[in-house]
Amino acid sequence: MNIGVLGAGQLGRMLALAGYPLANRFTFLDTTGHPSAGIGDVMIDTDRKHLEAFLEKVDLVTYEFEHLPVSLVQAIEEVKPVYPSSEAIRVCQNRAEEKALFDRLGIPTPAYRLVAHADELEAAVRELGCPVVAKSVTEGYDGKGQAVIRDPAEAAEAWRAINHPQLIVEAFVDFEREVSIIAVRGRDGEVAFYPMAENQHVDGILRYSIAPLPDLAESVQQTADGYIRALLDELDYVGVLTLELFQCADGSLLANEMAPRVHNSGHWSIDGAVTSQFENHLRAIQGLPLGDTTARMPTCMVNVIGREGEPAAILALPDAHLHRYDKSERAGRKLAHVNLLAPTHEALLERVRACAALLPDAPAPRFSFE
Ligand code: AMP
Repeated sequence: MNIGVLGAGQLGRMLALAGYPLANRFTFLDTTGHPSAGIGDVMIDTDRKHLEAFLEKVDLVTYEFEHLPVSLVQAIEEVKPVYPSSEAIRVCQNRAEEKALFDRLGIPTPAYRLVAHADELEAAVRELGCPVVAKSVTEGYDGKGQAVIRDPAEAAEAWRAINHPQLIVEAFVDFEREVSIIAVRGRDGEVAFYPMAENQHVDGILRYSIAPLPDLAESVQQTADGYIRALLDELDYVGVLTLELFQCADGSLLANEMAPRVHNSGHWSIDGAVTSQFENHLRAIQGLPLGDTTARMPTCMVNVIGREGEPAAILALPDAHLHRYDKSERAGRKLAHVNLLAPTHEALLERVRACAALLPDAPAPRFSFE
């Protein structure tokens, strides 16, 4: 099976690494001109001249990047099976569509308003009450295209700074922690759920994910499973889907956003789960049985961002698994991640701190259950 992947970054690289044991081959289509997968057959197509050649090579198509023109994915669907479908992309690349779907399925979200003018933004800020977070409806990721507004007088400046025709304005959630749920749905509708992860972001960028959680009530996992199952079934989804949530002090969950793909907060599963999110995505899209999503041990994923540190020192830590993306160093760039495992959460946190001390730009790890 030759799998066509739209996008050619580290997520595509890790899909390929999971797919070679299944005798999959990979052809990546990169529309940015800056592929970094470093593995498989990469076709650079910045002017849509190579799409036909790409489609001739592949049996089915998936993606590792959702900010693609929906019309491109729809055109591909006419020729080859695409999993997940263009409908999943259409919804997930637009925060307004996403929130409307959450509302329709009864999945709670922060209170929000849509605005298309600086005056409307100011009115929404007054209505929701400060602080609020304003986000561009499309094209934002890793905290880009966002502003926290602490006074209605700041609305005009935020509108100028974000510089986008439509924004979503959300009440600022005083959350206990950020969590995510990852699930996979097969072509036959079978669904498997990973244990939820706690995610620490700094400046909108994920730094640490830990799973499973020592203090997560079974009922909270079940609630999250129910939310993501509703999304998977509604979209007739095939593959891995990620839902990011805020957990509040009373245990309740508010949906933040979803990603129609394998996700950074699921990288722990490569070493920490019986079957990784990457392998399960490939199983799902090929109509193969899904693998066990159970965690083997408490696991923490540490993102390596900006500068790499000394790989040999990281590898000397016990039960540490370094996954480098073969990229050059640049401020803010995701270069690698480390998966650390330990028999207890206490021992794990010690290893995480030891690992963070070896990474030049790592913020201090902080988890809600410490
Ligand atoms: P997003 O791009 O929507 O995932 O936002 C990036 C980060 O900003 C999130 O991971 C949160 O840390 C923070 N954030 C986003 N929306 C809110 C909100 N409504 N309330 C509080 N923090 C938020």
